[in-house]
Amino acid sequence: MLSGHKVCVVGAGTMGSGIAAHLANIGFSVSLLDVSYEWVQGAFARAKSARPPHFYIPGTANTIKLGSIQEDEHLIAEADWVCEAIVEKLDTKRRLFDRIELLARPDALISTNTSGLQLALLNVGRGEAFRRRFLGTHFFNPPRHLKLLELIPTADTDPGLMEEAVKFFETQCARRVVLAKDTPGFIANRFGMWSMFFAVRTTEKLGLSIEEVDMLTGPLIGRPRSGSFRLNDLVGLDVMQDIASNLLERCTDDPCVKFLRETTSIPFLIEKGWIGGKAGQGYYKKEGNSFVSFDLTTRAYRERREPELPKVKELERQPLHVRLREGLEMRDEAGEYLREYLLPTLRYADSIKEEISHNVRDFDRVMMWGFGWEAGPFAMIDMIGADKVGIPEKQVFYQAHHDGAEKVLGFDGVYFQPKPEPDYRPLSSYPLIQPFNTFNVRDLGDGVKSLGLTTKMGVISPLAVKELTDYLSTGEAKRIVFSSEAKVFSAGFDLSFFIQKAAENAFDEIEEGIRNFQNLGKLFMQTPSVAAVWG
Ligand code: NAD
Repeated sequence: MLSGHKVCVVGAGTMGSGIAAHLANIGFSVSLLDVSYEWVQGAFARAKSARPPHFYIPGTANTIKLGSIQEDEHLIAEADWVCEAIVEKLDTKRRLFDRIELLARPDALISTNTSGLQLALLNVGRGEAFRRRFLGTHFFNPPRHLKLLELIPTADTDPGLMEEAVKFFETQCARRVVLAKDTPGFIANRFGMWSMFFAVRTTEKLGLSIEEVDMLTGPLIGRPRSGSFRLNDLVGLDVMQDIASNLLERCTDDPCVKFLRETTSIPFLIEKGWIGGKAGQGYYKKEGNSFVSFDLTTRAYRERREPELPKVKELERQPLHVRLREGLEMRDEAGEYLREYLLPTLRYADSIKEEISHNVRDFDRVMMWGFGWEAGPFAMIDMIGADKVGIPEKQVFYQAHHDGAEKVLGFDGVYFQPKPEPDYRPLSSYPLIQPFNTFNVRDLGDGVKSLGLTTKMGVISPLAVKELTDYLSTGEAKRIVFSSEAKVFSAGFDLSFFIQKAAENAFDEIEEGIRNFQNLGKLFMQTPSVAAVWG
């Protein structure tokens, strides 16, 4: 069933446009519908200028057919897959599914991109044929850049179809799939959103500044630089509040959901309309070329204050387990914040794990792939120690095995070996043929070699240019994958080289550096090569 590549995305907002663009980028035949033709054109025009861009190549945007739900029903009828991405309102979605059920081909896949409305509620009133091919496809924003797809079957989804769907989304749609249970908010928003609200609530309780907390909840604890408050602005406080309201309404047996009600700054900012980046202001506001910050005490904007947390800066260079352990030991208000925020957050993950996920590795992957965490909550508990986190069973969730494989603690208390995933081996697991100062040569098999940059942030320094040039000139590599073993593919050419040479007035060396770089490009052109760009 899942071989066709004709998809109709219904709803052309932030997510619908992003999903449509992602699928068009990778060769799907895509149509995108909204309430009217004018509306879809306006929404899509905004999507075309999104930053970071939705499209690899701007021209791909012209391949997407735009239409209105009323007037272009044939686009739904023709699709192999109908992907609903309209507003997060149960009744509105249900009314749309009334139409889709009548229009869609009997063998078409039908999915919803809901952030957390239970599918069992969306399914009400639908016939058997609809129910067996209906599932949740929860993409993350922006879809081009975040590979996670939470896939949610209902009790009625055909198990054979689910199996096919996992393969289809992983091999045809450039996603990594995590299967989630049909509970409110699934894994990402039940836990991830709670963790975002709890960070705000703890900040307000302890009286820290938003800049301090962004520093404490960024790379120090293995999270992106956006920390907590910049992330809130990115997601949008209105979106956060909608998700929280759904959780508050539906997770009545969860004693911790009450914290979603316990922030004061979120309702205040929403009331003012200061809901984040899309409103031009939220916890941060751009003024000219700089940002001002929302002061939680005075509830007014003030100049940004650089946090004075020297110990945190010092720790940032340590591996995550050291950062976590030493961060939690700090005997100041920064340490207090981590103890009051991070430990309850990890305990919360532990308390809901069985209800919302199939195993802790899935749970961890959602936080890594969807939220950019370096390690998920259970890997973090292992690093800190279950006893220190306050988890009574004192268990270890991941167990290294003597054959190098890792076993995961199942909910039945027995360790299991996850299924092998041969398509997702890290580059570092391939045999090393030759290490250079700036890159590694590895054997990928089939006569293909990988050249993986090992410089900081994959920076292409003059030494990297020289070493790559020397290596390619030997003609040893016949077919190449050029990639990186650093934190990201590459931050580009080493600009400090230019600054240094300019300061020395050595402009001829700059000329030479650029010439060498151009010549390296020519060498790459002479060898069949693929750039595996990531990060
Ligand atoms: P959005 O508000 O940006 O866009 C929603 C679109 O749906 C609008 O263009 C609107 O015109 C259209 N729409 C409204 N009523 C409609 C109707 N009756 N029929 C057809 N179209 C209608 O919303 P969004 O952020 O793109 O969210 C879409 C869905 O994706 C929601 O279910 C949301 O929970 C989910 N989601 C959002 C995010 C996110 O970060 N924004 C992430 C994951 C999932």
